[in-house]
Amino acid sequence: MFPEEKIIKLCAKKHIKVGIMGGTFNPIHFGHLVTAEEALKQFCLDKVIFIPTGNPPHKTSGILAGPEDRYLMTVIATASNPDFFVSRIEIDREKTSYTIDTLKELKNIFSDRAGLYFITGADAILEILSWKEPREIMQYCSFIAATRPGYDIKKIEELKSKLDSFSTNSFKAQIYLMEIPALAISSTDIRNRIKSNRSIKYLLPESVSNYLLKHGLYK
Ligand code: NAP
Repeated sequence: MFPEEKIIKLCAKKHIKVGIMGGTFNPIHFGHLVTAEEALKQFCLDKVIFIPTGNPPHKTSGILAGPEDRYLMTVIATASNPDFFVSRIEIDREKTSYTIDTLKELKNIFSDRAGLYFITGADAILEILSWKEPREIMQYCSFIAATRPGYDIKKIEELKSKLDSFSTNSFKAQIYLMEIPALAISSTDIRNRIKSNRSIKYLLPESVSNYLLKHGLYK
């Protein structure tokens, strides 16, 4: 059974709130897990679905582990949390993976039963105007932008006013900010540490670091 169908079965309520945790997770770390847990609690979400990117349009350089490895690391990291699920929806997409296509698929599955909250890094959301069909995206979900401490929130405020200027009266883009101290951890730093044989202890779940060391990722 797909995680989306499992969620429908598990939640008896008429209307549910579902977090969509979008990211490359290259690799997943404690900053991502704390972000999802905070969003779950602060926004009273029923469940959070992690959706690792498949063949993302914006990643052309750097070390990107294969989709299957990133998916498995995400499953390992979230396995013990009953409110966290992982979807293959983007991993299994053969074509370039766009957020709008994912949201349309989720809308088909949940129809009006679920309100969707797309959770991701604030820097990723700042680029939303360059994504495929940004206006449509904004109508499918609210956004929760996770920031690292000291983040300049003016940039998000500017984006909100830009989005509002092309929204209709009946519809306004919803972007909520959430500061996450644990996001001082970054996937880039973890990859650099692995490359230069420095410790990655306490930055990500031990089971994930065992997986990536076993498979020689990011060396
Ligand atoms: P990114 O540009 O690699 O990440 C930007 C920043 O956000 C990084 O600091 C990153 O930290 C952080 N971040 C990423 N995901 C996060 C999460 N779920 N929670 C907290 N922080 C997070 O962004 P990305 O990971 O590749 O993409 C983010 C999402 O935007 C994905 O779902 C992707 O599909 C979507 N996106 C869609 C399009 C499109 O449809 N055209 C284009 C671009 C992105 P770490 O490096 O530590 O993760």
